[in-house]
Amino acid sequence: MDGSFGAEAHAETAAAVLTVDLGAVQRNYRALAERLAPARVSAVVKADAYGLGVARVAPALFDAGCRDFFVAHLEEALSLRARLPRAARLFVLNGLQPGAEATCARAGIVPVLNTPGQVRAWAARARDTGETLPAVLQVDTGMSRLGLSHADADALAADPSALRGVRLLFVMSHLASADEPGNGQNGAQLAALEAFAARFPGVPLSLANSGGIFLGAGYRAAMVRPGFVLYGGAPTAGAANALEPVLRLDVRVIQTREVAPGARVGYGGRFVAPAPMRLATVAAGYADGLPYGLGGRGAAYVGATRLPIVGRVSMDTITLDVSALPAHALDAGSRVELIGPHQTLEQLAADAGTIAYEILTRLGPRYARRYV
Ligand SMILES: *Cc1c(COP(=O)(O)O)cnc(C)c1O
Repeated sequence: MDGSFGAEAHAETAAAVLTVDLGAVQRNYRALAERLAPARVSAVVKADAYGLGVARVAPALFDAGCRDFFVAHLEEALSLRARLPRAARLFVLNGLQPGAEATCARAGIVPVLNTPGQVRAWAARARDTGETLPAVLQVDTGMSRLGLSHADADALAADPSALRGVRLLFVMSHLASADEPGNGQNGAQLAALEAFAARFPGVPLSLANSGGIFLGAGYRAAMVRPGFVLYGGAPTAGAANALEPVLRLDVRVIQTREVAPGARVGYGGRFVAPAPMRLATVAAGYADGLPYGLGGRGAAYVGATRLPIVGRVSMDTITLDVSALPAHALDAGSRVELIGPHQTLEQLAADAGTIAYEILTRLGPRYARRYV
């Protein structure tokens, strides 16, 4: 409740409230920073800090000691620039769209250069203005997503003029299978990064995302780039290595009813009540980021009581079977828990047949966000 802004009053009457524990985000950051020192711990805050609200989350991380922030797009970095002190460094993972170099350089934002074209354009900007421009160089160690190939890196290393005016802060790569500690691709990618590094002597390395941090000290290199684990996600299967939970999602009941056997529930009438049932319709749907796949599979909670979702997920509502609760236990305005102490992000994701990252990053803009 402390130090929150105007949405607070709104949260009292809002149909659905997402509570973000900024103190927990800060404790998660500090726990990693202590555990991983001397590696630098950056924070990945792309996609609105994974749906939590970057305007509040990034300054909280800065206050916890974080100085390096990663986003995916230049536009995200430009809007974040004004919210953080100059001591914060902002990095753009996707690098630069052609023609965006001047905007990026003027704002003092650091691009991750992923292609020979991005390297050429950034170096050209440095030559044209006589500045020395910082950059991170990404190399592809086996994910085939972003970064220079071995051939690209050889060509770059063979031409000393290619990087003139560019100061490489890090050589980085990204792990494809960090959430699977037993997957041999991890070791292969680490070895590949070290092979790339030989072409850029003296430049510090960065490899690990949330999962990578827990693969062992060798993966931490000079800087780690966690996102998910800072926000309470479990970076490896089985909830091992999860830090403190950060989120609660509470949704209000709009209407309750009792139905007779044979009653059809929701679009398509796919659910048919097998017996007399008590139902509650609550105020969040797929437009709020609840996956359509939760229809007939997921649940909400009141205390420890599981309340199954019956019928399809609607745009703005889901309907729960609340027969397990005493009559009149729920009424208009009552809250049910979708994410919180009784249901993790991972559980909700498993019911929906998706990953917890997707649940997080789709947390809808209609939820009132309450920061505590
Ligand atoms: C998103 C991203 C991260 C953060 O990943 P988490 O699994 O959320 O920790 C790190 N590095 C890169 C390149 C990314 O795209």
